[in-house]
Amino acid sequence: MMQTLKNSQLVNNEINELIIPHEKVAHVHKNNPLNHALLVLIKSGYTAIPVLDHENKIQGQISKAQILDSILGLERIEMERLNEYVVEDVADPDIPTLQTDSTFGEALMRSINYPFLCIVDENGAFIGILTRRSILALMHRYFQQT
Ligand code: AMP
Repeated sequence: MMQTLKNSQLVNNEINELIIPHEKVAHVHKNNPLNHALLVLIKSGYTAIPVLDHENKIQGQISKAQILDSILGLERIEMERLNEYVVEDVADPDIPTLQTDSTFGEALMRSINYPFLCIVDENGAFIGILTRRSILALMHRYFQQT
């Protein structure tokens, strides 16, 4: 089956048509206070969202779990710390990125460990995200056809 997949049009498909463009992606800036990030996460309903800098470059991602963990004191959740920390104090800087000319196969491989992947242009500027859901949906369509 891997051989069939390798040769298929699916794997070599460019990922452009699956990308959610950046204007539709909930995100925060690395210097935003944590309380803003928590608000955006709760309002958007997402578990994690991308972190950008002022040049629109990807700096990582931040999740509700990371925020809660960062304000966990010994005896209580220390809500006041939401104003003391900024996003980059807490965010995970190590996330994989893809370029628009990356193949579907690369996206599939990277999405094994990440619910979404950030897409950047040749200058590293943020273009949008590709979700594991859209990758799986495309594969599902493909296997239904064959
Ligand atoms: P989904 O497969 O649609 O559940 O999305 C998987 C993950 O991708 C979500 O949990 C979010 O972390 C992220 N995500 C999806 N869509 C968006 C969006 N419009 N803005 C920000 N993050 C998103």
